Amino acid sequence: MADSYDVIVIGGGPGGYVAAIRAAQLGKKTAVVEKDKAGGRCLNYACIPAKTVLHTAEVYDAAVNGEHLGVKVEGASIDWDALGQRRASVSQTLSSGVEMLWKKNEVEFIAGEASLDSDANVVVGEETYEAGAVILATGSVALPIPGVEFGDRVVDTWGAWSLAERPQKIAVAGAGASGSEIASAYGRFGTEVLLIEMVDQILPLEDPDLAKVVARAFKKQNIDVRTGTKVEKVEAGEGSVTLTLGDDQVEVDYLCIAGGRAPDVEALNLEAAGVKLSEDGGRIEIDDYQRTSNEKVFAIGDIVRGPALAHKASEEGVIAAETIAGAETHPIDVALVPGATFCHPQVASVGMTEAEAKQAGHDVKVGRFKLGGVGASAVYDDREGIVKIVADSEYGEILGAHIVGNRACDMISELVDVMALEGGYQELARIIHPHPTISEAVLDAARAVDGWATHA
Ligand SMILES: Cc1cc2nc3c(=O)[nH]c(=O)nc-3n(C[C@H](O)[C@H](O)[C@H](O)COP(=O)(O)OP(=O)(O)OC[C@H]3O[C@@H](n4cnc5c(N)ncnc54)[C@H](O)[C@@H]3O)c2cc1C
Repeated sequence: MADSYDVIVIGGGPGGYVAAIRAAQLGKKTAVVEKDKAGGRCLNYACIPAKTVLHTAEVYDAAVNGEHLGVKVEGASIDWDALGQRRASVSQTLSSGVEMLWKKNEVEFIAGEASLDSDANVVVGEETYEAGAVILATGSVALPIPGVEFGDRVVDTWGAWSLAERPQKIAVAGAGASGSEIASAYGRFGTEVLLIEMVDQILPLEDPDLAKVVARAFKKQNIDVRTGTKVEKVEAGEGSVTLTLGDDQVEVDYLCIAGGRAPDVEALNLEAAGVKLSEDGGRIEIDDYQRTSNEKVFAIGDIVRGPALAHKASEEGVIAAETIAGAETHPIDVALVPGATFCHPQVASVGMTEAEAKQAGHDVKVGRFKLGGVGASAVYDDREGIVKIVADSEYGEILGAHIVGNRACDMISELVDVMALEGGYQELARIIHPHPTISEAVLDAARAVDGWATHA
């Protein structure tokens, strides 16, 4: 037997790296096993590279379309190699930062692929590490659509964010958060984008009012949106790929499949360790404190229920570590996990949509406010968007909040805070917001619930 630890975390993504730091902060001798890079898929292949490239799309768009702001740029172009280098270097910097935090907190980094043995100790290569407790944080992997394989021309989301060239034409299958981000970046780079979605709304999980604003904006970004459309056949050739969409055939340089993901649990040897999967599709079954069916083993992040989001994984890591250490903690409230999509315009939401709230039996009141009403949106030259607050009419409890537009992903935090602290829309309507900021639209949306928005 190699070294023994109080806590061994398998997977160094936003779930695992945070769990390890919290366990170490609470005095536990802790190690993380990671088969690839510190920071996991989020920092190296998903959230961070995506947002880095999206930022370049935003800067490029401002350069090309900024003449009316007094910025005249002649011959603006994208240096694809420089963009790729920056994308890689941002991830590298953040990944090194995670390693530094582990070192600072005396968390041991064990490189390699881990599995469990029947005592739920951790096996890496030839070594077995004894563990007081194990936290599984192995994340998820991309799934192609049935009958289609990934390859040079049919890529997953990481493939789309790391293309060696800027394509002339790209098709994106799946208009959820990832697919919409890819479409919005490439569209603004000047690529012809075909965004295909099976159901009749892009961003299918979002309130339809928000999705409509995004669909309108996408038309101005070289994006041809096809909702209610299924990719029926995919034929990949040397330099292109042909898709059959109903009666239509389309040839593009690349197809990105931005659809489903599956938990990455195959290597873990879960059955031998007595860790059960849920019946609804292979995620690991857990209780409110992230405990699995083996009392020594915990699971967090994309491999357990709830939305597959980095910030949810991190909070679950904190809960698992605190539970193991016997510290005071509280279960995650999945209903308060905000969603954030960084396409242009940004989309962010928390809680129930208007339709969901009605379906759940609430007597619903809605406050809707257009971002264009506040001064800051004129200052920042970005007037498209709305804030929508869904409240229960009895006491004013905020059931859901939905924002589309400039800085939506930052602004949603305020709504999450109010909901978490059980404030109502009436309190939010009296909280002073700094001027001139887009956040003043949140204030007016809260006032709009009772019909007294100032700038409507
Ligand atoms: C393109 C894209 C963009 C996204 N953007 C966002 C975003 O903007 N915001 C957001 O909140 N979420 C975003 N997500 C979702 C987010 O990436 C995930 O929810 C998050 O990474 C989950 O964190 P995790 O810790 O569970 O797993 P991961 O980040 O997947 O990390 C798991 C780690 O475990 C390692 N591992 C797996 N098996 C083993 C093993 N047996 N032994 C050792 N190591 C192992 C893997 O190598 C990996 O490094 C995005 C996802 C995609 C695909």
